[in-house]
Amino acid sequence: MKFFATENISVRLAAPVVRAVKKGHPWIFDKGILTQNKAARPGDMAILYDQKRKFVGIGLFDPESPIIIRVLHHGKPVTLDTEWMKEKLRNIFQVRTELINDPETTGYRLVSGENDGLPGLVVDRYDDTLVFKLDTIAWMPHLDQLVSLFRDLIHPERIVLRINRTVAAAPSCPDNLKQACVIYGPELVGPVIFLENGLKFEAEPIIGQKTGFFLDQRDNRARVGKLSQGQSVLNVFSYTGGFSLYAASNGAKSVTSLDLSKPALEAALNNFQLNKHLPNIADTPHVLMCDDAFDALRKLADDGKKYDMVILDPPSFARKQGDIPGALKAYERLVKRGLNVLEKGGVLVSASCSSRIPADDFFKTVTRTAAMAGRPLKIIEKTTHAIDHPIGFPEGAYLKCIFGKA
Ligand code: SAH
Repeated sequence: MKFFATENISVRLAAPVVRAVKKGHPWIFDKGILTQNKAARPGDMAILYDQKRKFVGIGLFDPESPIIIRVLHHGKPVTLDTEWMKEKLRNIFQVRTELINDPETTGYRLVSGENDGLPGLVVDRYDDTLVFKLDTIAWMPHLDQLVSLFRDLIHPERIVLRINRTVAAAPSCPDNLKQACVIYGPELVGPVIFLENGLKFEAEPIIGQKTGFFLDQRDNRARVGKLSQGQSVLNVFSYTGGFSLYAASNGAKSVTSLDLSKPALEAALNNFQLNKHLPNIADTPHVLMCDDAFDALRKLADDGKKYDMVILDPPSFARKQGDIPGALKAYERLVKRGLNVLEKGGVLVSASCSSRIPADDFFKTVTRTAAMAGRPLKIIEKTTHAIDHPIGFPEGAYLKCIFGKA
């Protein structure tokens, strides 16, 4: 049975685009299309040909987005039926076997969009709840099939749908799906509780940031945990206290969670409560600071405060190409202010999730800033993506983090 029960549209692509698709690039912009045999609706199947009408691949049409086609398959002709989709998902799950089999971790990214060959579709798991996050309206006509496939393969209790602002603004977006909502299973009352490396966390898939939690930092949180024993830790841009919990559970002397969002800090408090049966968590003083990170760091420095470890994990600073110079300056400012409150010989953890800033540029900015501040970094580790956030194409690389003693 066909998985995508929409119209097929024949599309001839410009030569450079054909080359990119053959190399596995998942995005086609409208200027890459030479001809198409009829008008397409969101979610229609684009059958891709080269100039000589040779088959190139198959994509999902989104005429309401600058990325007009997202490529699902390239190579030999295939039928994208339910079996094809199941096989694709089995391969995607295979990469995550270690996580799927880990009883101590029940929150992770099951499908990472273009990086897993399903462009525009992210699926996060929080214990028995799955969250579908659509970055294109093109998946909307295929939602019922997706729900039934994931019910078959994963048996979740419920599925939540989240769409980004651009998708919600698309003319063809159904009114009842513009807001995050449960599309399968019981309504959500309160947060979902899940495990990460044995620690309990709550996530709010409907009202939280992203799909409710920053699953991508799991491995870095574990690294912070290992370095935290006996340390005073300042977690800047803490969100719901992920890094803070790991630090406390590994015997930190004290932990401070600093974020601009009050609901995020309230959730951080709840997360400490959820784990208070662990002696280290119960014993670690946890301070909450609701403030702008840049201002708060300056005030802390003025007050002469010092910490043994400072974690800087800001939101993306570069949403578009033109933001890059400003973003690099902001990282510089942040590192400088972070170092001002770091004990001599303390550990600086500096992360960036700006996909437009390559890892090397970020690492250079951090190390150069530290050196210029008279606190050259003795690098402990530089890290990128966890296994459930694979890098499938250049634009898919966004996360980088540097650990160093200053
Ligand atoms: N480290 C977190 C994820 C951080 S996401 C984790 O492991 O889960 C970025 C966080 O920065 C969000 O919680 C957001 O509320 C916060 N934020 C954004 N701008 C801020 C600012 N100017 N000052 C302080 N926090 C800010």
